[in-house]
Amino acid sequence: MIQFVDLDQQYQSIKTEVLSEIQKVIESKEFIQGRFVETFCKNFSEMQGVKYSVGCSNGTSAITVALRALDIGLGDEVITVNNSFFATPEAICEVGATPVFVDCEENTYQINTAQIESKITSKTKAIIPVHLYGNPCNIEEICKIAKKYNLKIIEDSAQAHLATQNGKGIGSFGDISTFSFYPGKNLGAYGDAGMICCNDEKLYTRIKMLVDHGRTKKYEHEILAGNFRMDAIQAAVLNVKLKYLPKWTEARIKNAELYDKLFTSSGLKFLQKYPSSKCVYHIYLIEVSNRDQVMKHLKEHKISCGVHYPIPLHRQPALNFLKLTDDQYPVSSSKCERILSLPMYPELTQSEIQYIVSKVLEVAHP
Ligand SMILES: *Cc1c(COP(=O)(O)O)cnc(C)c1O
Repeated sequence: MIQFVDLDQQYQSIKTEVLSEIQKVIESKEFIQGRFVETFCKNFSEMQGVKYSVGCSNGTSAITVALRALDIGLGDEVITVNNSFFATPEAICEVGATPVFVDCEENTYQINTAQIESKITSKTKAIIPVHLYGNPCNIEEICKIAKKYNLKIIEDSAQAHLATQNGKGIGSFGDISTFSFYPGKNLGAYGDAGMICCNDEKLYTRIKMLVDHGRTKKYEHEILAGNFRMDAIQAAVLNVKLKYLPKWTEARIKNAELYDKLFTSSGLKFLQKYPSSKCVYHIYLIEVSNRDQVMKHLKEHKISCGVHYPIPLHRQPALNFLKLTDDQYPVSSSKCERILSLPMYPELTQSEIQYIVSKVLEVAHP
């Protein structure tokens, strides 16, 4: 059986270290905030190339808090891409703002930068570009647009740990960036966790207050906020895993290179990146016209696969009130029937990849 993501192999390789760190948290009783969270945030900032990081409860609350930190709420519009996980527009709606979707590009599947300007209105306050699949979107160009129209940028980097563009860390381009440590992400906790990063000290102070009851002192609350703190046990687990993340990321890239090589002569489309981008392949994706048949064939040969995502955001029932139609989003509307995600994780072997590709090519049509 080749799994889509194999968390057990990774756990076996770090088991002793992880269990010992969890034990340290329990024995120290520093369950909330404290040194385990602080250490992980500091180490994460260094590795990701950002100045400040605030641990939080998950990747969704990270986006909500980021929006609140930038004072985005009722009556505001936020531009994002409709090829993403539901959490992105969900957070926008949570603060009372309205998501405005831009279609995705044909080859990178990321936000179509050329269409952003046509969506800007007097109500637009921010852009949330998503680096979906760990594949950096055209963030440098988006920064120029944001500057021209005085808009804020929140980079949804939930799938893009250690990705870069022109050598600069993803998550360091926007005003704020958010990460998820959902167990299946490139850096995954053993539960829920997330991160909010920025380079501005004032914003950092505000974000810290927003995740922890608007506190300035233990029982003094300056702003209405909430509890979106990172769990110390998760921080301890993540801090162990962080050390291995560069190595795991390189293994993903090496696996993607072999997939690319094997698919190049096949006539099938596969995930493309900008030449200036380092893609960290949270997902490895191909396109086929007979997806059901390919998925059935892979299943028969004990290979797991997935679709990211089968329903573009403009079609989500919960967002019906936006009254959006397929003809406004032709690329994502057609791609969602064709895209197929193949197994991708650091421990996947080169011979497993050869086997997966051979099974795909037995039945797939471009
Ligand atoms: C996973 C994910 C999120 C949400 O993260 P959670 O930790 O699951 O809340 C947000 N955006 C994208 C693009 C994601 O992939």
